[in-house]
Amino acid sequence: MRLILLGPPGAGKGTQAQRLVEKHGIVQLSTGDMLRAAAKAGTPIGLRAKDIMARGELVPDEVVVTIVSDRVDEADARNGFILDGFPRTVPQAVALDRMLKEKGLKLDAVIDLKVDLSILQERIESRIADAKARGGPLRSDDDPEILKKRIEAYRTQNPALVDYYQRLDTLKSVDGMAPIPEVASAIDRALGATGL
Ligand code: AMP
Repeated sequence: MRLILLGPPGAGKGTQAQRLVEKHGIVQLSTGDMLRAAAKAGTPIGLRAKDIMARGELVPDEVVVTIVSDRVDEADARNGFILDGFPRTVPQAVALDRMLKEKGLKLDAVIDLKVDLSILQERIESRIADAKARGGPLRSDDDPEILKKRIEAYRTQNPALVDYYQRLDTLKSVDGMAPIPEVASAIDRALGATGL
């Protein structure tokens, strides 16, 4: 099974992806996690991405396309994967189509988590405050101003991306505002409807 999970920062993509990973025995490919790991390891890609990520801006398309392509080739992705945080732009979606075609792979579904953007900022800020209070791990872009930019990047790019997948008839919209178990059931129903 090969899926894409679309949605703004804080929509619960990570939580839902993790559940799908366990349920279907596939791997979660998060470009944000991959870029953070590359930055930590100090690789050329990581060094290039680090400051861009810290500013809440998008890393150039060719950088993320390359890391996804390499990751998809790894043995653990053979059984299937769920893309989390990729594609974020139409050129990335086009590159993904081309890449999968070249690798002889097919995309099964694109799940779009719909979330009210006006409450998102509040929701993530309270998550950041909780993590701070607990002394939990924080990301370098876990900052209210950077968050605004990340949500803005989503607002700018996502409509064209949704339109792209709608035209390809692969898109399933799910209400991401519902409690986690309900979102999970809605995703299962959407996948079931496509025979997955
Ligand atoms: P995320 O963990 O998905 O919120 O991503 C964190 C940051 O990594 C983003 O704010 C971007 O700077 C960068 N990033 C992750 N995925 C992509 C992508 N598909 N295209 C461009 N930049 C990305």
